[in-house]
Amino acid sequence: MPRRNPRRAYNEHGREIPPPIIGDLRAEGDRTAAVTCHGCGYHVVISTDRFPAELPFPDNALPLRCSAC
Ligand SMILES: [Zn+2]
Repeated sequence: MPRRNPRRAYNEHGREIPPPIIGDLRAEGDRTAAVTCHGCGYHVVISTDRFPAELPFPDNALPLRCSAC
């Protein structure tokens, strides 16, 4: 059994599930992402148009700050 990365998800067979990427969201027609501001914890929905398609998108992991921070 390979060592597990706590930041990754695993399926019932112990295989790592690759994190979704921005391109996956676009493929589903979703051009926005709900993120959390790292400054104040404020939840905000942003456009993903400025991010590269191959950018991994773990939930709330984009290092973003809202306009107030
Ligand atoms: Zn903020």
